[in-house]
Amino acid sequence: MKKVLFVSSEVYPLIKTGGLADVCGSLPPALQELGADVRLIMPNYQSIKTTEDIYYKSSIQVNRMDVNILETRLPGTQVVVWLVDYPMFFDFPGNPYVDEKGDPWLNSAERFALLCRVAVEVAMNRGYLDWKPDIVHCNDWQTGLVPAFLSLETDRPATVFTIHNMAYQGLFPKETRGLLNIPRELWHLNGLEFNGFFSFIKGGLVYADRITTVSPTYANEIQTAEFGYGLEGLLSHRKQDLVGIINGIDAEHWNPKTDTHIIAPFDNLTLSKKQLSKSALQAKVSLPVASKVPVYALISRLVEQKGIDLIIDCLPEMLTLPLQFILLGSGDKVFEQQLLDFARQNPEKMSVTLGYDEVLAHQLEAGADVFLMPSRFEPCGLNQLYSQRYGTVPIVRKTGGLADTVCDALPESIGNKTATGFVFNDATEGALMEAIKRSLLIYSFPGLWVQLQLNGMQKDYSWLRSAKQYQALYEQL
Ligand code: ADP
Repeated sequence: MKKVLFVSSEVYPLIKTGGLADVCGSLPPALQELGADVRLIMPNYQSIKTTEDIYYKSSIQVNRMDVNILETRLPGTQVVVWLVDYPMFFDFPGNPYVDEKGDPWLNSAERFALLCRVAVEVAMNRGYLDWKPDIVHCNDWQTGLVPAFLSLETDRPATVFTIHNMAYQGLFPKETRGLLNIPRELWHLNGLEFNGFFSFIKGGLVYADRITTVSPTYANEIQTAEFGYGLEGLLSHRKQDLVGIINGIDAEHWNPKTDTHIIAPFDNLTLSKKQLSKSALQAKVSLPVASKVPVYALISRLVEQKGIDLIIDCLPEMLTLPLQFILLGSGDKVFEQQLLDFARQNPEKMSVTLGYDEVLAHQLEAGADVFLMPSRFEPCGLNQLYSQRYGTVPIVRKTGGLADTVCDALPESIGNKTATGFVFNDATEGALMEAIKRSLLIYSFPGLWVQLQLNGMQKDYSWLRSAKQYQALYEQL
């Protein structure tokens, strides 16, 4: 039985700002189910939310700081969570990265370096917790110093570093090295130095025994200049140690058969009931209730990464076609205003809801016919997976996890029942429009359309499936 220490800056449901928390809240229990002994370590933020008790466990000193280690459990599971308790850093309102006002913490480097140092002490069984892992699994730049520090230890556990998004690297001025008291051996161009900056992520990319990312296609893409942010050379140098493993989804929370947010739950045997969700959705967002008009949906942060500008470029033509478009999101104020303007001018065809709305997100997945996800890059992506589960056919750009999880509807894939959506190559208005038109054409053949829906609904995106791949990776170490 492998013993695995997971290190992360956020873990759902304790604290979440994005997909990283979902992975770190779902993968450990799935690995535990497969027989691994998994424990988590993260900071004891003031904003942590839990229904479980929290106990004092031990105290250690790192880098002249006295730190307590507290223990709790991941709610609803048997997974032990250790909280790094250092009130001077973590006992403030706000989230892991920004304060209450939304300004980045000025001491982010010190905060996460402390997390890394304590994780190393625990990994080396010097945390008075009477447990030594075989593997330390680190996630994103905040944990990058763990493999670096561990590389200096003898008789150390093996290390895995997972990249959830290369766009965030933890770069700080080079003086940070002195501030954090980083050993000289780690400070050079093949170490933590990056173009004159101090780089947290390089600690993971240089020193971890294995590197993973959240889809096979993204694993290849980050070895190129377009996606590698200057680290493509290092990543391609390490390609023997780099693999992509697709994330799972929370299959209970996103299950059309048991979803409490939708009017008439359904599954692949009762797919016709999806119509009821569609009518309810159209009524809710004040569009004409029309069962034969396909509803296109988009739920996203409204940022360039997600290809929102492509959608805006397509809207003049798209809104002349026989379809409705419902968008839920928030982000860039310029995009928000442009989208609102289109909706105001086309009240019979388009609806925009600005903000974050979990309930509407479920109702959109259940009620829409097509889901739009024209991302410029997408390490894994979740909504294309939820969409397939809910019989909502995704249109995606061929990048990252989107390329790996959506099979384009072409004569061959339609014939052998593997097609689950529509895939386009170029990040251009023309390419997206063509995919939209292809989807409209197939929508006009109900038998074909239902087959596409069923193909997607039958795919397995459970965490257990992903956890088996991580388990196989741990076995190699
Ligand atoms: P990313 O993590 O890059 O934003 P993902 O597709 O991996 O993209 O995950 C986004 C998650 O956030 C999905 O679960 C999506 O439904 C949800 N989401 C994004 N924007 C909203 C919103 N405005 N309202 C509700 N849920 C949202």
